[in-house]
Amino acid sequence: MCHSRKSGNPEKRNWIPHQVRNDRQKIIMEKILLKNIENPDSADINEYINVGGYKNLSKAFEYQPKDVIEEVKKSGLRGRGGAGFPTGMKWSFADADPKFPKYLVCNADEGEPGTFKDRPILEKNPHLLIEGLIISGYAIRAEYGYIYLRGEYPYAKEVLNRAIRQAYEKNYLGDNVLGKNIKFHLAVYQGAGAYICGEETALIESLEGKKGQPRIKPPFPVNVGAWGMPTIVNNVETLSNVPYIIEAGAVAYSQIGSKDCPGPKLYCISGCVEKPGVYELPMGISLRNIIYTHAGGIKDGKKLKAVIPGGISTSVLPADKIDCPMDFVSMPKHGSMLGSGAVIVMDESVCMVKVTYRALKFFEHESCGKCVPCREGTEWLRKILERIEQGMGREGDIELLSDVSETISGRTFCPLGDGAAGVVIGMLKHFRHEFEEHIKNAKCIFS
Ligand code: SF4
Repeated sequence: MCHSRKSGNPEKRNWIPHQVRNDRQKIIMEKILLKNIENPDSADINEYINVGGYKNLSKAFEYQPKDVIEEVKKSGLRGRGGAGFPTGMKWSFADADPKFPKYLVCNADEGEPGTFKDRPILEKNPHLLIEGLIISGYAIRAEYGYIYLRGEYPYAKEVLNRAIRQAYEKNYLGDNVLGKNIKFHLAVYQGAGAYICGEETALIESLEGKKGQPRIKPPFPVNVGAWGMPTIVNNVETLSNVPYIIEAGAVAYSQIGSKDCPGPKLYCISGCVEKPGVYELPMGISLRNIIYTHAGGIKDGKKLKAVIPGGISTSVLPADKIDCPMDFVSMPKHGSMLGSGAVIVMDESVCMVKVTYRALKFFEHESCGKCVPCREGTEWLRKILERIEQGMGREGDIELLSDVSETISGRTFCPLGDGAAGVVIGMLKHFRHEFEEHIKNAKCIFS
C-alpha cells in the first residue's frame, strides 16, 4: 500500500488513522465514524467512554475557540450533507459575526430516496455526534444546539434523547461543562417528514415553528439564521468527524481520503447488489470499488446497467462510467455529483423510464409549492413520464420532457427543482433509447 500523499489514486493512499499505521492487523477495518458499533451497547455513554469517548472534548477545551476553527479549516473537512462546503470556513463566517446568541443546528433530516448513511451514527453512535456538537458549539461560541431529526426516525429520537440525558448527567452538557465555565445545551427537534426541511433555510423555518419552506439567500444562515441570529447548520456525519480531527490533528486527518476532499466517508448502497448497507470508506474511493469490493457486486450475477451515485437527485451514470473517484471535486468532472454518497445500483432488468417516473413522483410530492417552475414543472414531468411508463406515450413527449426540464433548471428557489430536472436530463442523456422504445411499442419493454 502506498503511503504517499502525492499518489494520484486515493485508493492507493493510506487512509488509516495515523496511530495505527504500523499495525498491519488493524489496517482497513479501523473505523472512525462507525467505531464500536458492533457492540450491542454502543449507544450507552459508558461504552463510548470505554473506547476513548469524550476525551477529545477535554482536549478541545485546552484550545481557544478560534484555534479549533483553524484546526478544522486545516483538516480540509467538507460538509457531508451534499454541498461539500468547507466546514471550517463556514464556521469562521458565523464566528466573525458580532451578534449573539449563535446557534448550532445538526441536520439529521436525511430523507432523500436511497440515503440512510447517518442512521447508524444516530442509532448506534449518538455520543460521537454529541461530542462533535459540543466541540463545534465551543468553536463558534454557541450555547445552544439542536438536532433536527427526520420524522421517520422514531427509534433514533429515543436513542438520542437517552444519550443527551446521559451526557447531562456526566456534565458534558449544561451550564458549566466539565467545570470549565462553558455552557452548551442540546435538544432534539423532530420534523414532520418533509424532504424539503433537509434544505437548511427550510429546516430553520421549521425549527422556529413555521411552515418548512426555503428562505431566499442571501442573507445566509451563518449571519441570519435561527431567530435571526448567526446559525451553523451541519450534517450529522460532518459533526461526527470533528472529535477525530481534534484527536489526530488536522495534518493526520488530511492524509485520509483524497487530496481535495479528505477524511472518511459513509457510503450507503442500495438496489441490485449482494450486500447493501452503510460502509465507512475513504473519501475518493471509486464507485467500482464500492460496488464490487465492498457491496459484493451485482446481485444474482446480473450485469450492471446504471448507478445513481449520490441520492436520487444526482445524475445517473451508465455502467461504463463507474471508475470515477467518489468525492465532491471529482464527481462533477464525471457528469454527476457525490451528493450524500447514497449509491443506488441498477442491473440490466431495471426499467429506466420507471425509475425516472418514480423519482419525479417523489419530487412532485415533496415540492413545497413556493415557486412556480418547481411546483408546476414537477407535476408536468410526472404526468408525461406516467403516460410513457403506462404505454400511452405520444410523439413529441421526449422533446417535451427535455423542454420542461431545461425550463425548470436554474429557475427555482432552492435545489429541489434543479434536482428533479437533473434526473430527467441525465436519464435522457444516457437512456433515451428506452424512452423511445416505450413510446414506439406502447408498453414497458421490461415487463
Ligand atoms: Fe419549494 Fe420546489 Fe421552489 Fe424549492 S424549488 S422552494 S421545493 S417549490
